[in-house]
This record gives sequence, C-alpha cells and structure tokens, in this order.
Amino acid sequence: PDLIADLHLSDLAAEPQWPSALVAGAAHYADAPLRAMPSPIDGALLGHYAPATAGLVNHAVEAAHGAYLKWRSVPAPLRGELVRCIGNKIRQRKAALAQLITLETGKIVAEAEGEVQECIDICDFALGLSRQLHGLTMASERPQHRMMEQWLPLGAVGVITAFNFPMAVWSWNAMLALVCGDAVVWKPSEKTPLCAIALQRVVEESVDELSERVPAHICQLILGEQAAGERMAAHPLLPLLSATGSTRMGRSVAQQVAARLGRSLLELGGNNAAIVTPSADLELALRAIVFAAAGTAGQRCTSLRRLIVHDSVIDTVCARLTQAFDSLPVGDPRVEGTLVGPLIDADSYWAMQQALQAAEQQGAVRLSGGGRLEDGVPAGGHYVRPALLRVRGNLPVVREETFAPILYVMPYSELLDAIDLNNGVSQGLSSAIFTDSLREAEAFIGPAGSDCGIVNLNIGTSGAEIGAAFGGEKDSGGGREAGSDAWKNYMRRVSNTINYGDSLPLAQGIRFGQ
Ligand code: NAD
Repeated sequence: PDLIADLHLSDLAAEPQWPSALVAGAAHYADAPLRAMPSPIDGALLGHYAPATAGLVNHAVEAAHGAYLKWRSVPAPLRGELVRCIGNKIRQRKAALAQLITLETGKIVAEAEGEVQECIDICDFALGLSRQLHGLTMASERPQHRMMEQWLPLGAVGVITAFNFPMAVWSWNAMLALVCGDAVVWKPSEKTPLCAIALQRVVEESVDELSERVPAHICQLILGEQAAGERMAAHPLLPLLSATGSTRMGRSVAQQVAARLGRSLLELGGNNAAIVTPSADLELALRAIVFAAAGTAGQRCTSLRRLIVHDSVIDTVCARLTQAFDSLPVGDPRVEGTLVGPLIDADSYWAMQQALQAAEQQGAVRLSGGGRLEDGVPAGGHYVRPALLRVRGNLPVVREETFAPILYVMPYSELLDAIDLNNGVSQGLSSAIFTDSLREAEAFIGPAGSDCGIVNLNIGTSGAEIGAAFGGEKDSGGGREAGSDAWKNYMRRVSNTINYGDSLPLAQGIRFGQ
C-alpha cells in the first residue's frame, strides 16, 4: 500500500482503486532500489517503483503457467467473455486511461484516446475470433481415413512492450493470447508503469467478476527493466515471447529465445519511407506526410523518416513542408490545439541532436526545425520543433532509426530508383507511395516493389488499423500481430490422422510384413 500511495494514481484517475494491482507483488519489491517515474511533460515526479527481482519474474511466470493449465480447457467462446468484459471496462474508462497515456508518454490527448480505442477494437476483434479459431480438414490418400488440423493453446506467453504505445501493444498480444487459451506475463516499458498498472487493474476486476470460469493469475504484470526482460527471454515456461522495441533489444531476445528453441515474435524498429510521384495529389500527400512525420513527436515505429520525391515536384514539396513544419503547434500535450508533444526524455533529445549534427556533417541541408523549444512550453520537458532536412540519398545517418521527429527529403528521377531507396535500409516496417498512376502503384505494392511488411497507397506510413496483420521484415523483426491470422502465433498447430476403418493401410503404399 505504501508503494501504491507513492504512485499517486488515486489523484490522477477517477477510479482510486486502480493501483491496488501492485498489492500482490509488494512483498517482492521490498528491498530493491526504487526507480523514479518522471512525466515527460514537465519532468514532474509521478512516483517511484522498485523493478522486479529475479524471484518475482519466476514467481509470475510459474503462476501464469499454472493458470494456463486450467484456462486451456475452457471453451474458446467462453474465453472470449473475459475479453468482452475487459473491453467493456476499457470503453467505460477511455478518457481516464487516455489521460494516463498522455501523462506518461507525452502523447497529445487525441492520439492517446486513439490508442485506447485501439485496445477496445482489438477486444472486439478477439471476441469474434474466439468463435473462429478454425483449422482445416484434408483428404487422406488412405481409405476410411481423415486428416485435420487443430489449433490448440500454447502456454504462458511473455509480452515485452516499448514506451511509445504503452497500452495498445499489450492489448494486441494479450487479447489474442487470452482467447487462444494462453496466459500472459507482461513486462511493460520501464518508462510507462502506470499505464500498465491501470490495465492490470482492469484485467483483475474482470477476472474477479468471472472467477467461476477464469483462473486467477491468468495475466501477470512485471514492472522491471532490461534484466527482467532478459529473464523472461530465458524462461523455459514461456514458449512464446512477443517483444516490441528497438532492433538492439530484438536481436538479444531472439538469440536468447532461440537458444532454448522457443518462439519469438518480434516487432522492432522502422525506418519508413514514402514516395511522392509526379501524379500525386499533393494536398492529400502533404497532410499525410506531416501527420506521419511529426505526429507522436516522431516516436512511432511507423513514423515517416524518409521522403523520396520526384525531381519535378521536390522544390514545391520542400517549400510546402517547410511552411507546415514551421507552423506546427508544439507544446503541452494536454492543451487543446497542440499537435506535437515532448520527447520521452533527455536521452531521446540528445540522440536527436546527435543525428542532426551527423546529418549536416554528411551533407544534409536543414530546411526547418530541430532545435529545443523553451518558450511557451512546460519547463522540464524536452520539446523540439520537428526537423526537415534535404539530403542526396540514404546517407549513413539516414539509414539509422532516430526515434524523434526528423524527416529527410531526397530526390529521384526514375521509379525503380525510388524503390531502391525505399528498400535500401536494414529495416522493413512501413512504406507508402502517393500516386494516381495504376502502373506506379502496382509496381510499388507488387513483388518487385517495397520490401516492407506494410505497403500503403495514398496513405501515410503510420496509423494502422487492427484488422490487418501488423509487422515488418528484415531488422523490423518479421513478426505479425493484431488482425488477419496473427492469432496463429499464439497457438500450436496439431495435425491429426484418424482411421475410422478396420484395416491399417500405410501411407505411400508401404507394405510392412503383410
Ligand atoms: P527498447 O528496445 O529500449 O525497450 C523496449 C522494451 O524492451 C522495454 O520493455 C525494455 O525494458 C525491454 N528490453 C530492453 N532490452 C532488452 C533485452 N536485452 N532483453 C529483454 N528486454 C529488453 O525500446 P523503446 O525505447 O521502449 O521503444 C522504441 C523502439 O521500439 C523503437 O525502435 C521503435 O521503432 C520500436 N517499436 C516498434 C514497434 C513495432 O510494432 N514494430 C512498436 C513500438 C515501438
């Protein structure tokens, strides 16, 4: 309870009971050094928490595994009721949850509410899915035989998430995992523990309400840093580890999980590009570009970082974007009208400054922004004007993901060169083309086009809906989450051959002693 008081959650939310989510773990936190929780808005201290010890990680995983052993036998449509209940509670608390996202990440209110809506959407999706976890039946070559496949629950699933989507990414994973019959062990970013506690409380209320058929401990929350994530990656009772964050983190997790022959589902960094062709609807394209590049202060994995513009329109595009970037309202994300909030912390600010300096040394020309704003913004936060730079191509610094609002604009003359530029980085998350030409559009979205997991036409690179599978290729990790058939990641496929006759024909006509 002391820890909970430290969190000041009761002051923030209309629901003072939220923070009791921590009670169960309190004993395990007793001796660990505390971590401060500053708000990126103004640096105000929101509280402290103690990162989980190795013992707590183990305890949480074992508890979740125990819950899974019961949950796997609950019929999937009944598992869907838990997700429905969670979705309804999130719906009722949309505004308060969004407020918490804003406070912990600095996201503007409209985007924070959008993120909570994404949680609600995936609950609806998963509820429907709970009646559609279907396999196939196949024709057998043997008389009076039948083959089929089933999708069965997998186990306790580990979920590690990044700071920039402190609620949505958990929901994509956890809601699918729950209807699939799995338990969930969640380690949110160390920078956003309050969002996680609030959601855990929503889950616990739902589990209590449905306690007749839902085992306690089905969803576990671990507040911890890299060390806690590494312990999860190594834990043999987590057959699947879904990890969202930087490529550096993904490489480490992938190797640890592979060493024990587990499965990993990786959603990593992006370095997303959009192509503007001569036939593009420029008004539409410019609106999409500004949102994708500057929205969420450039802190989305799908943020637009590279703009590849045809020679014939690049001067116009640069002039219009300079105007737009110069006039973007940057400031307190809680204030109506603000479109760009703060960066998450000082490290992020300095990483941005270093990238800008490197870019200029490598020949980039700065057209707008990049500097720190100190007037008219809350003191203690790291507010920057989104930066716009003109470059010749994929300079070394352009090939890196800098998690801040920097847009590099580069020219092209032939579409094939533009596609090469799009694909010429190690990441492969999201991409877009703005064109009215059917030929150009199909070239970009086809097999010899963009090599990314997300390939958009006349829409920016960010802002995906939950209905399609989400994820990228190459250094972006190769995982797919959310919609389509991403649910298959959270289940094990079982092939059954059934003999309903009274003889034993062998496959491939093999005779064995007959
Ligand atoms: P990060 O990699 O620093 O941390 C992400 C999470 O991984 C945190 O919970 C952290 O504690 C944990 N972690 C770090 N190192 C680990 C390790 N070695 N083993 C296990 N866990 C470890 O990322 P961040 O700064 O929170 O988020 C920004 C990054 O996340 C960007 O690269 C962004 O593109 C990416 N991201 C990707 C997606 C996607 O869906 N592809 C979505 C959101 C963010």
